[in-house]
Amino acid sequence: MLKLKDVSKFYYNKGLIATGFTKINLELKMGEFVVITGESGSGKSTLLNVLSGLDSYEEGEMYINGEETSHYTEKDFEDYRRKYIANIFQSFNLVNSYTVYQNVELVMLLNGYKKSQVKQKVLDIIEKVGLTEFKNTKVSKLSGGQKQRVAIARAMIKETPIIVADEPTGNLDSASSKDVIELLKKVAKDRLVIVVTHNIEQVEEYATRIIKMHDGRIIENKEIKKVNIPEEVEESKYTKITTANKYRLGIRNTFNIVPKFLLLFAVFLFITVALLSEYASFSQTEYEANKAGHNFFFNDLSPERIIIKKSDKTPFFSEDYEKIRSIESVNYIIKDDIVLDSTIIANNQEEGIHIYGNLRQTELYKGNLTAGRMPENIDEIIVEIPQSYYYVRNGAEGILNKKFTLKSDYRNLNENEEESYNVKIVGVQLYEPSYSFSSYGSDVNIYASEQYLQTYRKDLNQKYSNIKTLFAGKYYESQDWNSYFKIIPSSKVPLGAAVVSNDANYSFKDNSARNKALKIELENIYYKEELNLKVSNTYTKNSFTRITGYKDYDQNNGAVFINEEDYKSLFNKPSYQSSVFIKDEKDLEETLLKLEELGLLARPVKDFKVNEGKEILQIIKIFKLVVTVVLILALFFISYFIIRIILKSRNVYFTTLRMLGATNKNVKRILDIELFINSSIAYFSFIIFILLNRFEILNIEFIKTLLKFLSLREYILMYIILIIMSWLISRRFSKRIFKKSAIKTYNEEV
Ligand code: ADP
Ligand code: MG
Repeated sequence: MLKLKDVSKFYYNKGLIATGFTKINLELKMGEFVVITGESGSGKSTLLNVLSGLDSYEEGEMYINGEETSHYTEKDFEDYRRKYIANIFQSFNLVNSYTVYQNVELVMLLNGYKKSQVKQKVLDIIEKVGLTEFKNTKVSKLSGGQKQRVAIARAMIKETPIIVADEPTGNLDSASSKDVIELLKKVAKDRLVIVVTHNIEQVEEYATRIIKMHDGRIIENKEIKKVNIPEEVEESKYTKITTANKYRLGIRNTFNIVPKFLLLFAVFLFITVALLSEYASFSQTEYEANKAGHNFFFNDLSPERIIIKKSDKTPFFSEDYEKIRSIESVNYIIKDDIVLDSTIIANNQEEGIHIYGNLRQTELYKGNLTAGRMPENIDEIIVEIPQSYYYVRNGAEGILNKKFTLKSDYRNLNENEEESYNVKIVGVQLYEPSYSFSSYGSDVNIYASEQYLQTYRKDLNQKYSNIKTLFAGKYYESQDWNSYFKIIPSSKVPLGAAVVSNDANYSFKDNSARNKALKIELENIYYKEELNLKVSNTYTKNSFTRITGYKDYDQNNGAVFINEEDYKSLFNKPSYQSSVFIKDEKDLEETLLKLEELGLLARPVKDFKVNEGKEILQIIKIFKLVVTVVLILALFFISYFIIRIILKSRNVYFTTLRMLGATNKNVKRILDIELFINSSIAYFSFIIFILLNRFEILNIEFIKTLLKFLSLREYILMYIILIIMSWLISRRFSKRIFKKSAIKTYNEEV
């Protein structure tokens, strides 16, 4: 069955060579009970390891069942061990954290049998070695003799043709030794049993051959009894381990040593928390980088704002607004959106209060009032103002419930303001300024009614239009900064008429402007309009107030006064551009599509943002990314070293699996599964913890940030990263164990 011809085994150790044994010649047949003796260090164990394919040899020829083995690969020896060999060791080599039953069952699971299939057989064999009452006891609790009986049971169940036992009684008292030898003899039957022992007396009556070794050589090889068993060898059957069994063992290993489970759980929990919070902080930086930036045309840069125009360039009519309003994601429509991007001044003449702020429509207010209430009438406004602002430094009372006039800028000419310009502040929100220059404009927001915004738009239409007046054969352009040919509405001027300054008389040969034609041509980016008027009167310093209804002659001299209705026909146009505010930023893309389906040009306001510090932000982002990657790598190595220390005690376990016939690949897979289960448990425990905060059963600030910056996609991504990390850790760890042969790892560990 086994034959050695001049076989030698050397150990190479840091440049030194030690001899395991030299030039051994040996032939062993089925049915033999071979006893090997010899003093310590004579090479007995080395010989057994070579015979059982656990270790390699350097010289000579070894035949297994007549086949020469010099060309055998690692895989061939794995096969050989699984088909032929069952090992019993002096130190038992059992899995201490498994029960007796699980230890015996393990061989069968590793060799592709189903759990249910082997149950009866395992119980029978446990019965045979007399351990039935201990079948559910953990091996670590057994005595030496009991342990060795478990090892024999494990060797028996595999039904291999060869049993190799290296000093099986070395750690046992003489009574237990006797039991063990007797058991071995019972097992022997038609098999080939090779036993190393010092107690020849105990084995003498069973031995068929006694071999004595000395200094790496066989000095005596005595056949005591002849055996007549035909050389017909029945190989032990095995198949690949089933996937179910890999998972069964992976799960069993996850939980069978509680402190190890808890330690690994703690490490994986740490990785999970570190990964998620690092990623959340990365998202936060990115979010803030996106929020920064400004724009010189639009000062309301809300992410919910979409600017719309009709693609046929006509103004918006109420039916257009109806259609837009029917889109589900739309929250408000601000018809006169141009005013959202203007700044305005609220004046209280008596107390000398001047508040400069962005004009907003009341519906856009999302905050919480510090004092006062929401507006109920069209002439009521609310103000959002930094608490450090001069007029509110002693609280909101400084401005609350006071009357103000709203003006587009300091140069507004109107002294006798229209009714609708008079407003009252009914609500104030004080806030802590954040010093991020997120929008161009003021840090004060003034919220007014839609009706007021409409009135105000007329002024803006004038401000943003190019207005030319054809008079006395010449064109005069209205300028924003002076009164010369400025167009001002007046209730004192009849329809179709214009009132001009007395100075204009001198432009005509007859020194009279009266009844002369005056044509106003207006053009802005949205529309063109013209108005043909006749001069009905001229004003002087003295007659100014009587004729025009305004007070300040010096400031207004040169202006053209026209009837209010004519003024409206020039400027009171429906909107050509509006803004839509959506309920949720997330619906942006979808809403854009729907608006386009309605024939509108739609652009989110954020598309107009310019980011001056873009390069710097880019650099910060890259830097942050590098930090994140370095952190994840550091995390990986720290975790790896901790896990390696935790798993180090498991070396013996993995080596045992290999000796029992598990292939390297399968041992790795079982470890993968164990770490996968453990890391998943850690991850999902943390997710449950997050969910408790999500549903406000717990309330932890740090978790709230995570919730804000991580979405389902990121949770999945982080889970995948964690699983990949645990897989890499498992791979690195098993690579280290498998670098050495099973027996070498084993010898080092035991
Ligand atoms: P025995 O089992 O008879 O006590 P061994 O087979 O263990 O003896 O050892 C035989 C010889 O091989 C001894 O000289 C021992 O020092 C040497 N040897 C055994 N294992 C190793 C090893 N891993 N590395 C180096 N030398 C070894
Ligand atoms: Mg030995």
